[in-house]
Amino acid sequence: MKLDISTLFLVTIYVEAILGLLLLFAWAQNTSIHAVAWWGFGHLCRAGSIVLFGMYGTAPDLVTIDLANAVLFTSYAVTWTGARVFDGRPEEPVYLVTGAVLWLLICRLPGLSDSLDLRVLLASGIIASYTWLTAFEFWRGRAEALVSRWPAIFMLFAHGALFLLRTPLVAVLPWLSTSDIYGSVWLTVLSFEALLFTISIAFILQAMAKERTELRHKTAAMIDPLTGLPNRRSFMEEAERLTERHRAHPKPVTVLLMDMDHFKSINDRFGHAVGDQVLEVFAESARQSVRSSDLVSRLGGEEFAAVLHDLSREKAFAVADRIRTSFAQAALEVDDHPIAATVSIGLAHCELEAFEFGELLAQADRALYVAKERGRNRVETASLDLYRGRDDHAGAAGTVATSARPSAA
Ligand code: GH3
Ligand code: MG
Ligand code: MG
Repeated sequence: MKLDISTLFLVTIYVEAILGLLLLFAWAQNTSIHAVAWWGFGHLCRAGSIVLFGMYGTAPDLVTIDLANAVLFTSYAVTWTGARVFDGRPEEPVYLVTGAVLWLLICRLPGLSDSLDLRVLLASGIIASYTWLTAFEFWRGRAEALVSRWPAIFMLFAHGALFLLRTPLVAVLPWLSTSDIYGSVWLTVLSFEALLFTISIAFILQAMAKERTELRHKTAAMIDPLTGLPNRRSFMEEAERLTERHRAHPKPVTVLLMDMDHFKSINDRFGHAVGDQVLEVFAESARQSVRSSDLVSRLGGEEFAAVLHDLSREKAFAVADRIRTSFAQAALEVDDHPIAATVSIGLAHCELEAFEFGELLAQADRALYVAKERGRNRVETASLDLYRGRDDHAGAAGTVATSARPSAA
């Protein structure tokens, strides 16, 4: 198959320019992700370079070959810069123009300027370097779970590899090589691939930006901005998942409800901002005291909850007491103020095969009420119908878990 190269050039210029403008338009609508503007600009640069290539024969070679390639390399460098910016890394102005400058300088060297093979090798090397660097930037940012990262990495890697394979392929498949570069099948193949690549990558890059925006909205709806802990909504969703899991594989479950003691007075004495810092200190103490598989959440105000999986009642109590003591220690002094904040914790434990999460939560709430009644800064365990054992637990810090269900709720 041999496509008419002039038509292919015109189509590519049109497609590159339209995609570039669409990306810029998308960025104008949501300016929070600057990378999209870089990517739009990269496409426009590529459209510009193809305009220059297309003028071959009607303008000096300096413009249609040397300058056209320099603009083409810069377009790939701009896309790479976009990938850096996307993952919060700084732009590298020097490397942005390195490919173009290297090309313009080396092309002046005697021996290289008249060797088509060497020039092709150099040009391919520069393009492959920038596309692989772009793939590498996306790979480095893989901790952010965006599904569209992976097709982007694959497309960029394949595009770079094709450029590098170009030289050996020309040797293996001599029909690809011809002294008339603009009549060569290879140019048609590369231009066609570049057209398909540019369409795919523009859509994938746009999809990445969109996926990130959606992920951030979703995270914002599920995470408490002050403490970084999951919020009540997230907690209730996790509770539903837990109930499902529990049905399939019954394991002991413990719910802790935690409420700051005399928090109003902390706000009154030291100010709301210090109160906020105390909440952050608590979140950190709680996070540090549980395993990563356990869930700690801020239900609202100065109330927190935790779900501990697969722990005996005694071990769960020890975890709750660790939260209490480590917080009391960490909150002795906050921001140079003698805060001495403490927390009361209500614990409900269940080893039954069928359990009702709402009931467990209500039990923990009753136990918390008892902890407040009995003087605060303590852990109280709900006496339950919800576990098999009959022996009531003697609590740490001198507290004894409630042996009868508290009447107050
Ligand atoms: P108790 O020991 O009985 O729990 O007393 P308390 O003062 O902690 O209880 P109360 O529920 O009366 O007061 C809770 C206070 O928490 C009231 C409110 O101003 C404060 N509060 C709620 N949310 C926040 C917050 O996000 N930041 C700060 N700084 N204070 C908050
Ligand atoms: Mg409260
Ligand atoms: Mg309170």
